[in-house]
Amino acid sequence: MTQQTITLIGGGLVGALLAQLLAKRGFAVEVFEKRSDPRRAGFVGGRSINLALAERGLQALRTAGLADDVLQRAVMMRGRMVHPVDGVSGLQRYGVDDSEVIWSVSRGGLNMLLLDAAEAAGVTFHFDQSLAAADLDARRITLTDDHGTQRQHHASVLIGADGAGSALRAAMNDYLPLGQRIEPLGHGYKELEIPPASGAERFAIEPHALHIWPRGGYMCIALPNTEGSFTVTLFLPAHGPHPSFDTLPDAAAASAFFREDFPDLLPQIPRFAEDYDEHPVGSLSTLYLDRWHIDGRALLIGDAAHAIVPFHGQGMNCGFEDTVVLADLLAESGRDTADAFAEFQRIRKPNADAIAAMALENYIEMRDSVADPRYLAKRELGAR
Ligand code: FAD
Repeated sequence: MTQQTITLIGGGLVGALLAQLLAKRGFAVEVFEKRSDPRRAGFVGGRSINLALAERGLQALRTAGLADDVLQRAVMMRGRMVHPVDGVSGLQRYGVDDSEVIWSVSRGGLNMLLLDAAEAAGVTFHFDQSLAAADLDARRITLTDDHGTQRQHHASVLIGADGAGSALRAAMNDYLPLGQRIEPLGHGYKELEIPPASGAERFAIEPHALHIWPRGGYMCIALPNTEGSFTVTLFLPAHGPHPSFDTLPDAAAASAFFREDFPDLLPQIPRFAEDYDEHPVGSLSTLYLDRWHIDGRALLIGDAAHAIVPFHGQGMNCGFEDTVVLADLLAESGRDTADAFAEFQRIRKPNADAIAAMALENYIEMRDSVADPRYLAKRELGAR
């Protein structure tokens, strides 16, 4: 019997994991990825440097046989370490013991591990190949490389794992409107770095925590990296009255603001001026679609189908969960592709909608309520 070929667009976190799972289930899988191979050219992120991996994502990695490898390169986070402007910082644990924790992982390291695993399972990757157009009637895609050279490729089953700005989604939406709605959050983010400590202690602050500096309408968070540094993310309104990225256009303005609002954090970021001036402000939106697929020809997965704001740390985790559901459905004997895609949307869309709403709510909780004494009292009662 000839193997069914599945063409994936995007070899990021979700695309690479899905490719491995499909190859292990007997499909011939080819992946077209816009960027160069990060294992040769170095990883070019564009998004957060590290991410929180939670149980949902870990379960998918267990299914792929990769959980242990990933956890060896991760830092355990037992809870939220909340840093008030004045007063004592405190750890709010996620669970009663270390069986309920989340993990900080490097986006680049994880992506490369997933690419290796997919390749070992027989997946073919085509790097420097960006989807430019998709003719869904002719089942043909057009790809461009860095020099603008175009090539055509036959693709009978297409899956778009090409992220929040998905080119496949745009092509599908032109062919048949998907009911797309994009809601910008109005807040942006900027990444800064706490370097490793110089003495015997590798980490300058508590390593086994997700640090939060809640300040009401905005906040900073920090996640640990295995080599001892922390990636700090400042979340702030993009525009409008002080403080916003508009009113803090450069490091001079921002360092005065940090001295006032984040007095314990600023001294931990020795390259504050360089980080602030050199790193871009990222934007944040929630993507809602009514349809994720066009019969059995094309389907969207991960951020391409349901990009969310990062405050629950669940975008990748939710995308990883997608991959297991989809691979299982496609591998079910007797089920055709159109039916598998429809069932995938039926199962996953309510979950994606729920996590999108929870992620928006959690921004308010993280930047505000975690520091509220009433919340702390309630939480303590709830926990015991
Ligand atoms: P992406 O990671 O965006 O990958 C898409 C891939 O497609 C990329 O490799 C890209 O190069 C490729 N591509 C794009 N266009 C084309 C094209 N035209 N042709 C070919 N290839 C293309 N999630 C969590 O679970 N935990 C967290 O703690 C967390 N923190 C976050 C913090 C921030 C600041 C942000 C912005 C997001 C965070 N997320 C987090 C969300 C997470 O980053 C995404 O959900 C996840 O990256 C989605 O994976 P993906 O593979 O669907 O998309």
